[in-house]
Amino acid sequence: MRLNILFFLFAISACSQSITTRLAEPGDWIIQEDTGEITNCLSSDNFEIDSTHLDFWPIKYVRLGLHVMDKTSRPFSFDSINGPKQLRTLIRMSNEILAQRQRLLLPKGNNYPPLTTRMRYVIEPDVDPSEDGIYFHYDEEMPYHMHNGKFQNRGDYKIFNKYKYRNDSILNVFFIAHHPDSVASKTYGTGNAGVAFGTRYLKMVGHWHDFKKPWEVRKTLLHEVSHIFTLNHSWIKNDGCDDTPQHNNCWNYNVKPGCSEVSNNIMDYSARSIAFTPCQVGRMHASMAREGSKQRAYTRPNWCEGTGQHAELRDSFVLRHETDLEGNLTLLPGSYLEVRCRLSIPEGHRITVMPGATLALAGGKLHNSCGLGWEGLFVERRGRLQGTLMLLGKDGIIEDALGGASLPETSPSSD
Ligand SMILES: [Zn+2]
Repeated sequence: MRLNILFFLFAISACSQSITTRLAEPGDWIIQEDTGEITNCLSSDNFEIDSTHLDFWPIKYVRLGLHVMDKTSRPFSFDSINGPKQLRTLIRMSNEILAQRQRLLLPKGNNYPPLTTRMRYVIEPDVDPSEDGIYFHYDEEMPYHMHNGKFQNRGDYKIFNKYKYRNDSILNVFFIAHHPDSVASKTYGTGNAGVAFGTRYLKMVGHWHDFKKPWEVRKTLLHEVSHIFTLNHSWIKNDGCDDTPQHNNCWNYNVKPGCSEVSNNIMDYSARSIAFTPCQVGRMHASMAREGSKQRAYTRPNWCEGTGQHAELRDSFVLRHETDLEGNLTLLPGSYLEVRCRLSIPEGHRITVMPGATLALAGGKLHNSCGLGWEGLFVERRGRLQGTLMLLGKDGIIEDALGGASLPETSPSSD
């Protein structure tokens, strides 16, 4: 009975303590030595997705501009009535793969976590936002695609040079048909194909006049876009990922004698290509986080002003990769965030360190990566308990905060 009364009194007292919030000041920082390891913040290893802390991997939206090449004199591609719907279906189906958790067939017996990629594709129009971002070009001078033979033009830039738009921020994708005469030839291979031109643009080649199976083409689109986002063919030895074993690149089981091992990795030539390894997803996110990269430019900059997708931390997390959040970041009571890399907060948003939570800045940078003003770092107090700020080592940076920089001027190793 006495215990109950005590508990009741404590509960009353706890409820009566109000929370105060204020901007962090230089005197709030507890300075300590950094005993952690030096971090390479753009190493793709550090971008491998931690599914228990997805808030630090916001979904990235890759902007695509779609072009259909054809000729009025001899139409051989998508028609302008049904084509846009078919192309939107292709993008939707590609996004379904990006969003699904796929188990990898290789390496055999692997226990890689089935991943979502935290990426999606969006079709983005040129200047007029009322357009759908799918453009039909009827041009007698532009060639059909010749994949091989005497007149092969796989590496041709004519269509890109003439019809590209906003290629500083949009990945232009051209759908081009095989030459009708080639299709009639028995010696010309006329399957679906794709060509990625460095990081500049994509060509998708197929039987677009008779397009019925978007699910067969989605893997070509995913494969080629992934090339643009730094992925290499995964059956080869040195593709930049340790979790993609070298193999014979069989299209399917028993397609060739001895084909008993078939991959479903998106970067293999396989009928089953739909899956990404942790390293591959990490490489793509590393390319998008790198400031000034082409891949980042193709990504919708939702991090500038924010989308309202707020991030929370309930436990302990060490930020070893660069990240651009799209809303407020709140460290809940009991949580610990160690910032060793660049962390961007959108304009008008803030970081809040709640009572009992700790933010440790260990060589990292808090800023807005678009150079806009974010509200700043806020510390909450309830009674005697307040959020803790720690400066580990001397190299922390705070930029673009409207409340001003709030780090102490000196640190233990600065003299
Ligand atoms: Zn390829």
